[in-house]
Amino acid sequence: MKVEFHGVRGSLPIPAKNFLEYGGNTTSIEISSKDFQLIIDAGSGFRNIQIREETPTFLLFSHFHHDHLQGLPFNSALFSKKNQIHVGSGLVDRTGLKEALSTAFTPPLFPLDLVNHNLAFNIMNFETFQAAAIDFFSIEKFPLCHPGGASGYKILIGNRSIVCGLDHEYGLNKEQDVNFHKASRNSDLVIWDGMFTNSELTDKQGWGHSSIEQAVAFSSSANPKALFITHHSPQREDRELNQLAQDFLPSRVRFAKENEKFEIL
Ligand SMILES: [Zn+2]
Ligand SMILES: [Zn+2]
Repeated sequence: MKVEFHGVRGSLPIPAKNFLEYGGNTTSIEISSKDFQLIIDAGSGFRNIQIREETPTFLLFSHFHHDHLQGLPFNSALFSKKNQIHVGSGLVDRTGLKEALSTAFTPPLFPLDLVNHNLAFNIMNFETFQAAAIDFFSIEKFPLCHPGGASGYKILIGNRSIVCGLDHEYGLNKEQDVNFHKASRNSDLVIWDGMFTNSELTDKQGWGHSSIEQAVAFSSSANPKALFITHHSPQREDRELNQLAQDFLPSRVRFAKENEKFEIL
């Protein structure tokens, strides 16, 4: 099984030369094996995912902020009759999901009425999505602390587990933190929203994001085999990420890089 980050930036794509090492696209993560592709979120990095025609594709939304959605119409596989993409979200039901996508992608905000454009899309309730995926992976959801809400996921593939906690503000809601921690304990990989540093967090409480230092503490208490910090601030240049990695990160905690592949054997 392979995990690939096609977008690692929070809030805004940042196509500038001091950001090229880690990448400028916003959140889109592909988890795949030879049998399926599961994509979490469709930020601008979604455009670059090669969606296979011969295996099923599952697309899951954590929430609907622009940086998790803006790439959706720009992957040509959406318009191919050969693909049938199962689309779901733990945050809302089928009606809510249709509404969120329709709101973002109809005039005057977008040239087409995307959802009614005969897409290769099968928009589902979360329970139907779980049932459609069951031959390939099982998936559980848990609520995250984020303005407007967001859904975290635990994905189990055979005896391997990946936990995605985007977007989340750690330390504001004890019950949600405990659930996230429980899901992550001894997992193979945790994906963490590390938009801020602790010092930046002091005047950004309530913005819905966690810190890099919190990721390190979480990793030592929850003990995943690996933890990838993503959703990097659009202000955070490569030089600063490299310095922070050197100063703060133990070997099993890393900053996610666009196009880097992580194999879980
Ligand atoms: Zn975000
Ligand atoms: Zn968000």
